Amino acid sequence: MNMRDFLHEANFVAGQWVQADAGERMVVTDKANGSVIGHIPVSGAAETRRAIDAAHVAFTSFSKLTAGERAGMLQSLAGVIRNHADALAELLTNEQGKPFAEAKGEVLIGASYIQWFAEEARRVYGETIPSPWADRRMLVVREPVGVFAAITPWNFPFSMLARKVGAGLAAGCTCVVKPSEFTPYCGLVWAQLAQMAGIPDGVINILTGDAAAIGEEMTSNDKVRKITFTGSTRVGKLLAERAGAAMKRFSMELGGNAPFIVFDDADLDAAVEGAMAAKYRNAGQTCVCTNRFYVQRGIYDEFAEKMAEKVVGLKVAPGMEEGAMQGPLINEAAIAKVEDHIADALAKGGVLKIGGKRHELGGNFFAPTLITAGHQEMKVAREETFGPLSVLIPFDQEEEAIAMANDTEYGLAAYFYTRDLGRTFRVGSALEYGMIGINAGIITTEVAPFGGVKDSGQGREGGRQGLDDYLNVKYLSIAGI
Ligand code: ADP
Repeated sequence: MNMRDFLHEANFVAGQWVQADAGERMVVTDKANGSVIGHIPVSGAAETRRAIDAAHVAFTSFSKLTAGERAGMLQSLAGVIRNHADALAELLTNEQGKPFAEAKGEVLIGASYIQWFAEEARRVYGETIPSPWADRRMLVVREPVGVFAAITPWNFPFSMLARKVGAGLAAGCTCVVKPSEFTPYCGLVWAQLAQMAGIPDGVINILTGDAAAIGEEMTSNDKVRKITFTGSTRVGKLLAERAGAAMKRFSMELGGNAPFIVFDDADLDAAVEGAMAAKYRNAGQTCVCTNRFYVQRGIYDEFAEKMAEKVVGLKVAPGMEEGAMQGPLINEAAIAKVEDHIADALAKGGVLKIGGKRHELGGNFFAPTLITAGHQEMKVAREETFGPLSVLIPFDQEEEAIAMANDTEYGLAAYFYTRDLGRTFRVGSALEYGMIGINAGIITTEVAPFGGVKDSGQGREGGRQGLDDYLNVKYLSIAGI
């Protein structure tokens, strides 16, 4: 099977491919060249309501399956994904832009999330409590929350859904999913994958269209018991407010502004390698991407030189081209933001070492950029850039680096490089973040809890903790024994 066999241009509700009521459609483009890949339905509240009804009906039977049965379905799903990883990765590269090798990595980690939750499905343990009444037994069980609604972004359109669908289905929930309009195919394809894996109709329903209208229905419909969202802090707060008012559970994976601190005692080559991975992966468009580099004065110049060499070596090319290391950005707005941060940094004294402008390939391609002589008053130190821009900021003392790193409303990922054991623990505990990479630039894995604090969100995806957000705690007090 090839990419075209996985491309669907309709909503999937109760096991059927259906168009939006008014038949309206919107276009989806290839991010490397702007050509049209296809069209998707523009759905609104009515279509969303029917998708929720379908998930609600399916919940009655799906939640009663044994954990082993659900685990078996998820195992099959992981297998189907792995068997078709190349075609799925091609679909992802075309609509999202990232290099094929990265896309394949994303598809495979998607499979790993599904496999992990297949394994965890069988470990939804409860507990017994020693009773204060002689004639009673007290049990605590964990039950699926019910129908959940998932809204996903364009930067990891495949694996973001894997984390949500895997955890939710393992818990016994059913769902309605809305992928990003920029990358809808990697969302819609889950319907086909679910069918191939033998997952019952109605368990996964997917629709595309008017984000605000769909989101409004998801957060106000009584049959939805939980909202899970990955995207911007602005939209996340809006959805959390509405979900909170309706007393629904919610988990939010929002923006980040990751600091990357390099201390004098670090292994510099390892730090540069980690810096490149933490910054330029997905052209800088990940929520755990480094936004700000803090480099201790003693090694500042050497670090800057070594990093410059690597940045120059990044091959910018369409994602399907052999050896591509950085693809296009998602759209014109993304480029405008990078340009704004560069102009601001240069106006405030930054020194341009490499790049700084659109790439000669044109379209959405942007040159990997490195700026030195940064400081905390630049926009790049405050706002998420979401693009291939590195700004190096010097510092002298450990406390100073920690203070600057924590000086943000975000708290998703942070990184630091040191070979000092005491410093590892001191800095590791002082940083106010949900995830910390120590001598590591890549930290995401299905076995660990992914998530943030402060404005970066609530809840965790992956790890043992990933199931908690999809389970309610119920206490049974059994008297008369
Ligand atoms: P980004 O800036 O990364 O595109 P967004 O938060 O705008 O992040 O988008 C993430 C997801 O949220 C996408 O699927 C998008 O369609 C959806 N979205 C955007 N606005 C709303 C809204 N008002 N209600 C519900 N979902 C929304």
